[in-house]
Amino acid sequence: AAVFDQLSTGLEEAWTKLRREDVLTRENMKEPMRDIRRALLEADVSLPVVRRFVNSVSEKAIGTGVIRGVKPDQQLVKVVHDQLVSLMGGDAVSIEFAKVPPTVILMAGLQGVGKTTACGKLALFLKKKDKSCIMLATDVYRPAAIEQLVTLGKQMEVPVFEAGNQLSPVEIARKGLSEAKKKGVDVVIVDTAGRLQVDKGMMNELKQMKQVLNPTEIFLVVDAMTGQEAAALVAAFNLEVGLTGAILTKLDGDSRGGAALSIKEVSGKPIKFIGEGESMTALEPFYPDRMASRILG
Ligand code: GDP
Repeated sequence: AAVFDQLSTGLEEAWTKLRREDVLTRENMKEPMRDIRRALLEADVSLPVVRRFVNSVSEKAIGTGVIRGVKPDQQLVKVVHDQLVSLMGGDAVSIEFAKVPPTVILMAGLQGVGKTTACGKLALFLKKKDKSCIMLATDVYRPAAIEQLVTLGKQMEVPVFEAGNQLSPVEIARKGLSEAKKKGVDVVIVDTAGRLQVDKGMMNELKQMKQVLNPTEIFLVVDAMTGQEAAALVAAFNLEVGLTGAILTKLDGDSRGGAALSIKEVSGKPIKFIGEGESMTALEPFYPDRMASRILG
């Protein structure tokens, strides 16, 4: 995909500069490290994250010495790969289910990031894993959101609980949860009310939703196109509401990839899923090692 093209090209330049070297030294690493730094900044990774990354790569690369049969450029590629994986959280973190069903998944996010779409995608993902789902339509502030969720539900044959926009999101959540319990479904996916910007009202509403629903997962849906801003949002929501992870959408667009690289490091929370398209099947669990391989081309 185009997301990491620019980053890959930038990193490629770094390896090229080591092609004629026999060993990695502090001296011959200077220019390649500058290329890596520039490539990451251009990908919109935040400056503190870039600094820590570059430092840990230099340390590891210079420390490894010469491995027999491995050229310095390949050695640096390997170190960068491993550090990218660790930057993105190391092992993949899969979705967690409640010991006693239903598992409640609270989906938060600003308007337009792809939250409602992600609810539908997640329902289909779980359905394929033989989990029965219900979706709760509590996004009462965006006029089309309820209708959109109902349409997605019909399309995938997943029930949707909605109560129009006369009740508050918290009241709809409470009713929806008892409906879910009555039906005996495995998973409740809650499309919460987004806002154009982060505000107190939104945070307070999420806190109340959390109290009423006792969710196992609280995901912030963020748009990859917003780069390092996405990571800052995950950190902010996590501080206010407490998250279990992020869903990164629109990785199919021409974003520069900085969000994928920064979220874990900036917020401490893992990316659990990535969205790469508008279709309901365009959702995948996030694997740091696969993403690192994609970046390195
Ligand atoms: P919400 O306001 O956060 O609920 O956003 P929506 O779910 O309505 O999505 C906003 C727009 O982004 C819609 O046109 C979606 O089709 C589109 N969208 C959502 N996820 C993705 C994605 O992963 N890739 C692309 N290209 N578009 C997406």
